[in-house]
Amino acid sequence: MFVVFEGGEGAGKSTQLSRLAEALREQHREVVVTREPGATAAGERIRRLVLERTEGQEPLAPRAEALLYAADRAHHVATVVRPALARGAVVISDRYVDSSLAYQGAGRTLPVEEISWLSSWATGGLKPDLVVLLDVEPRTGLARVASRGGEADLLESESLNFHDRVRYAFLDLASDDPKRYLVLDAARPADELAVQIAERVLGMLSD
Ligand code: C5P
Repeated sequence: MFVVFEGGEGAGKSTQLSRLAEALREQHREVVVTREPGATAAGERIRRLVLERTEGQEPLAPRAEALLYAADRAHHVATVVRPALARGAVVISDRYVDSSLAYQGAGRTLPVEEISWLSSWATGGLKPDLVVLLDVEPRTGLARVASRGGEADLLESESLNFHDRVRYAFLDLASDDPKRYLVLDAARPADELAVQIAERVLGMLSD
């Protein structure tokens, strides 16, 4: 089973992802926790290339950025996700195709159908069984990231409007295919969210 966590900055994906992994391991399931970009050695280099732009460096052209995320994903799916699914493991990924549709498509305003085509070429059409979308209002999410002492410049690097477009793109994707999505308000207490996510995934596994 392939579960993906999506959401904007500061949505709490990593907390919920570890909680789910823990709940599944308690049930003696093999769990592979992974992420995009950067789950493989090649992916780690791509992650640095797209995310660690040093000051004064020219920004990547949006199409170049989209291709790098797609390259990371192609390698990730071929070398990590598919082999794990083939052994019967539950794969939980922090971000997947929807992040590209939201960030490179809606955020960078590249044509979403083209990003969708590129992603499906990169993955050989592999779709998640469930996408957990942790929906967060951008101001709240960015404030959470800043309070962790993390990338405090996130709001400076992209406008609030960019983050709003990303948020609504995620929500639109969920409403287009509601059975595949669990949309949760990320402002709710973490414990409550963890219980709801575990119930959904364990329910799907026992079907
Ligand atoms: O989830 P994580 O913090 O690892 O994501 C790092 C950053 O990568 C996010 O802030 C997001 O802006 C960016 N990203 C992106 N396009 C993707 C995946 C991630 O712009 N397809």
